Amino acid sequence: MVMLADQRSETKSKAQLADRIRELKQQQHAIILAHLYQRPEIQEIADYVGDSLGLSQQAAAADAGVIVFCGVHFMAESASILSPGKIVILPEPNAGCTMADMVDADELRARKQELGGIPVVCYVNSSAAVKAESDICCTSRNAVQIVDSLPEQRVLFVPDRNLGHWVGTQTSKEVITWDGFCNTHDSITQAEIDRVHALHPAALVMVHPECRPEVTARADRVLSTSGMLRFAKESPATEFIVGTEQGIMYQLTKDNPGKQFYLPSPAKQYCANMKKVTLPKLAWALEHLQPRVTVPDEIRRRAVRSLERMLEVSSRRI
Ligand code: SF4
Repeated sequence: MVMLADQRSETKSKAQLADRIRELKQQQHAIILAHLYQRPEIQEIADYVGDSLGLSQQAAAADAGVIVFCGVHFMAESASILSPGKIVILPEPNAGCTMADMVDADELRARKQELGGIPVVCYVNSSAAVKAESDICCTSRNAVQIVDSLPEQRVLFVPDRNLGHWVGTQTSKEVITWDGFCNTHDSITQAEIDRVHALHPAALVMVHPECRPEVTARADRVLSTSGMLRFAKESPATEFIVGTEQGIMYQLTKDNPGKQFYLPSPAKQYCANMKKVTLPKLAWALEHLQPRVTVPDEIRRRAVRSLERMLEVSSRRI
C-alpha cells in the first residue's frame, strides 16, 4: 500500500515537473533536444529526439535562442559550435563520455604527424579541441559516406576503434584506427547475443557499429540508433535482438507495439552518463539558463569546419 502511494506521488510530481518544464520552455524561447539513450521521461518531453547526426542538424537549424541539450558534454559542445549565437545548456555538467576522453588534441596532432599528415576523420563523440584538429567529423550513421567522400586513400579514424574497424570493412580505403572504445557497446559479447538468439531463434540481430568486430561480423544488420528505429519499423520481422544502449528501447517499443525487442546483456547496456539528466535538473536548468556550454572562439572556428563539412556531405544524395 505504501509503495503504491509512493508510486502515485512520484507520478504526480513527474507530471507537475513536466508541466513546469513546458511552461519554462515557452518563457525562455528554448528548444529541448534529447538523445535516444536518455531516460524515457526526458525523451517524452523533448522537442526532438534523435541520434548524433539528427541532433547536430537540429542544433544547426534551431531558431530558438536557447538550446537545452539532454545528452552528454560533446553533444552540447557541437551544438554550441554550430550555433555560436545561442545559449546552449547541458542540464548535468558532469555528463561526459568515456570514449571522447580517450583522445586529446596533443596526442592526435602527434599521431597525425607520424602518419605524414593523412586526413583525420573524427567521430562526433570527441571534444571540440579534437574536432578542431580533424579534417571532417562523422557519426555512426554517415561514417562510411564520409570516409568515401575523401580523395585520399588512407585516413586516420578517431577515437572509436570498433566503428573505425567496421568502416574499414565497408570501404576500399585504408582506415587506421585509434584505440578508443565505448564501454557500453564494447562490453556486449557474441556469447550473450547467441544465448538470447537460442531463446528467440526468429529474432533478427541488429547491433551498433561501436560493438566489437566479432559482434558486428555476425549481426544481421549493423545500424546507427536511428537506423535501428527505421529498420525495426519497416522490417516484416516481429522480434529483434538489440545491441546498443538500452535507452533506445523506449522509442522501439513505443513505435512498434506488436513487436518484441530483447537486450542481450541489459545490465551492461547502460551508459551512466546518458542517464544523468533528470526532470528536476532539466527544470532547474531552464529556470536559471545554466549550466552553459561554450567553446573558446579559436577552437570553435576550426572545429566548425569539420562539423559543417560533415553536414554538407551528409546532405548529398547517395
Ligand atoms: S554510450 Fe558510449 S559513446 Fe555514448 S555517451 Fe555513453 S560512453 Fe559515450
